[in-house]
Parts: sequence; C-alpha cells; structure tokens
Amino acid sequence: MLLDEHSGEELHGSKLSTVGAVDKEAGEAINKRPEKLQSCEEYHKGILDALRRTDLDVYELLKAEYDRLQNSLQLIAAENRCSRAVLAALGSVVQNKTTEGFVGARYHGGCEVVDDIETLAVSRAKEAFDAQYANVQPHSGTGANQIVLTAILDRGDKILSLGVDQGGHLSHGAPVSFTGKFFDVANYYVDKKTFLLDYDAIRDTAVRVRPRLIICGASAYSRTIDFGKFRAIADEVGAYLLADISHIAGLVIAGAHPSPVDYAHFTTTSTYKPGGPRGGLILMGKEFDRKVNAGGKTLSLAEHIERTTFPGVQGTPYLNNVAAKAVFFKETLRDEYRARQFKIIANAQRLACALAGLGHDVLTGGTDNHMVLLNVSNLGGGLTGLVAQKCLEQCGIIVNMNRLPYDKRAASVTSGLRLGTPIVTKNGMGAAEMNSISALIDAVLKGVRVITNSEYQIDEPLSSEVRDKVVDLCRKFSMR
Ligand SMILES: *Cc1c(COP(=O)(O)O)cnc(C)c1O
Repeated sequence: MLLDEHSGEELHGSKLSTVGAVDKEAGEAINKRPEKLQSCEEYHKGILDALRRTDLDVYELLKAEYDRLQNSLQLIAAENRCSRAVLAALGSVVQNKTTEGFVGARYHGGCEVVDDIETLAVSRAKEAFDAQYANVQPHSGTGANQIVLTAILDRGDKILSLGVDQGGHLSHGAPVSFTGKFFDVANYYVDKKTFLLDYDAIRDTAVRVRPRLIICGASAYSRTIDFGKFRAIADEVGAYLLADISHIAGLVIAGAHPSPVDYAHFTTTSTYKPGGPRGGLILMGKEFDRKVNAGGKTLSLAEHIERTTFPGVQGTPYLNNVAAKAVFFKETLRDEYRARQFKIIANAQRLACALAGLGHDVLTGGTDNHMVLLNVSNLGGGLTGLVAQKCLEQCGIIVNMNRLPYDKRAASVTSGLRLGTPIVTKNGMGAAEMNSISALIDAVLKGVRVITNSEYQIDEPLSSEVRDKVVDLCRKFSMR
C-alpha cells in the first residue's frame, strides 16, 4: 500500500501518475489532469475508512464510544443525539473554509457557498424559534452568553442570576467563570421549601440590587419558567433580560414550553441539547433593531451582538457546525421533531411519577420539562449523588450527580441526581420503558451499600441482573 507522505492516506493511481509527473524526454513537467475528479459523494464516502487507515487508535476509540452508547442507557439531561445528516454536515469539507465576519461583510474570498449556508441556517433558526434575528456563529452556549454579556455590559456592571448551586449555569456569573470575574454578580434563589422560583422574592432582590442585566434559564430546574414575569421585573428596574434556554430549547421550538424570544432582549441556547450539533445560538425577537448605547456606541441590539461576536469575542466561525445547525433547524420544523418534544416531557413525568411512587424524593414533586431532579441523601445510610452516579454507571445507567438547592454537600459529592429523557425518547422508548427504568434505578439505589461519600459496594447478582436488563432495553431501542 502506498501512502501519501503528507496525509498518510492511501494514494490513488490517478494521483501517482499525474501530479507533478515529469516527462523525461521533454524534460518538462506535464501537469496532466486526472481524467475525472472524484465526486463529492466519493470523497466523503471514504471518511470512516480514511480514519481507520490513518489512525487506528482514534478509530478504535470511536468504535468503543459507539458501543458504549448502544449498550447503556443515556439519561443525562444535558445530552441529546443528533441525526446522521447532522454528523455528515459536521464531517464535511465545509470544515475547511476560513473566513471572518458575517454574510455580506467577509474578510476572505471564496465565501459564496458558505454565505448561502449561513443564510440558510439563520433563516431556519428564525423560523424554528419564531425569532426576528438569529446569530448562528457562537461556538457554544457559554460563548453565546459571553457574547451577550460583553456586548451590552461594561466591566464591573451588575448581573442578577440564579446561582450555579441553585440550578443556574456557570456562565451566569459563577465565581469560577469569566462572568464572575469581570462582573458584579448578585443571585436570586429558589424557595427553600418548594424549590420553585419565587417571582416576588426575585423582584425584591432586583429592586434592591438594581442590576444592569437579569439572567433567567437554568441547568437544573424542572418547572416552567415564566419569562413574562422576568421581563416585567427587568423593565421595573431598567435591566436587560437574557433568557438562556439551553436545556429547554427543543421544548420551546415545539411549543411544549413557553418561548422567551419576544420577552427577553436576548435568548441564547446551546444547539446540542435540543438535538443538533455542538455550538451556540443567539436569538432576538421584536426588539432586535432597537438602538441602545453600549460601550460608548449607539447601535441596534443586533449590531452590538455582531460586532461583539466578531471581532469582539470570536475569530472565524465553524462553518461546518453552521451547516450542521442548518440541517438541524430543518429537522426541528418536522412534525416528528415537534411531537417528540411532548413525548420527552411525558416520559420525564412518567419517570418522576414512578420514582416518587417507589418512595424516592423527587424535587418539586414532578417535572414540566425533560428533567427529573432526585434527592438521594435520604436513602440507605447517607447515599451521595456521587455514589448514586457511580453505582448506576456500573449497571449501565448513565446519569449525573447534581447539587441541589441548599445542598449541604460539596459540588464534587452532592446529594442529588439529575435525569433526562431526550435520548431514550429519541430511541423510541415510552411509558412502559420509563416504568422499567424507574424500577432498575430503584433496585440499584436501594441495593447499594454506602462505604464513604465516594465508595460503595453492590452485590454481583444485583448489578449483573440490572446490567442484563439494561442491555435488553438497549437492544430493543437502539440508536439507528
Ligand atoms: C449547557 C448550558 C450552557 C452551556 O452550553 P455549552 O455549549 O456547553 O457551553 C449554557 N447555559 C445553560 C443554562 C446550560 O444548561
């Protein structure tokens, strides 16, 4: 096998015989063209083969990850699964295009195709979310928040947000995040007894601290968020409102959760949590062209966001991700996607109800969205979120520990578990399977013997029985 020394890829006959070939008699280079260019289909069809030939290590790891996904239950609320069409757009030659700026104002040549790709992604995002403005360039949900904060705040300005220990996100002002470093952060809290957002208390805090920006939206909150109430509070104190819907974006698209797009000045989301490629998105509703002064310049909100996206915070957009976002937004317009969002909620409610029925402490008593929060600390001799996560993982049930509001345990141990239903729903599971999964979780959490905050023992017959049942479920509802 002949390998191209630059790419390590197998050389094709046509390449060997034509590229820079020298005709000895004439003594001059003949740049004979290959007779036929490889078609786009042929070129991309060989992707997995090229990886196998070039790097067996990564290839084997990729296969191992595929097997892991096919043989365990994915119940992490922050995860979803994109389609193969989205994967194809991610792993395409579009990844090779470099440019800066936005459509119509690029800093490099050769953008006619990627301009069309980005235009399509923007128009589909607007249609999916019923928005007036969409920016598809943010590299991540965190990056989308960074762009908004940098666009409209000055260093040291005050933010009011839900603390990360209460269900908020790191990028909403956590001390360990850039947001906590560069801005003055005050927090609002969920109610100590009900674990629900208390809008009167939030208003009182806002009136007291006079923030320049209020952030709503959460990573661990299982109830509906009233964006209208947040906007009324923001208006009362003269603050901007940022709604970060990363976790619930799919539900918002489907109308299974109210939309913030016309309430908030800015709506941000990650694009993988609703089932697309990794990346971020910034949306605006009817106020997108409102002129405001920020950083000494009076511009529309949209202009502020674009100048801050590039050159403010990011460089070149990931155009393959933008192409994949376009594919994903198209998928969200289909009935299948929309109907699935309601099933995701129904499955989460079934899971919550079944677990509560088995005696588990479900925060807020249930859920309105795709996630279920469990307090495991009342179970068998001081169970921690960490031990619960580990012993479930040993049995093939993949979840994440989560700090609960007013949790007395550290973030590395926690008292809680967060479960989510997007992937099992996408794999076709329904109420019967949610009952089975609840029974499996129950058997593990009640069967585990806690040794320390992070160590445990589980009897072999129990763990292999659960593991076998998990594999059975995965066989019946595989990723295809
Ligand atoms: C997941 C999440 C993000 C972060 O998105 P990344 O793309 O992972 O950076 C931001 N905000 C909230 C509320 C999230 O849940």
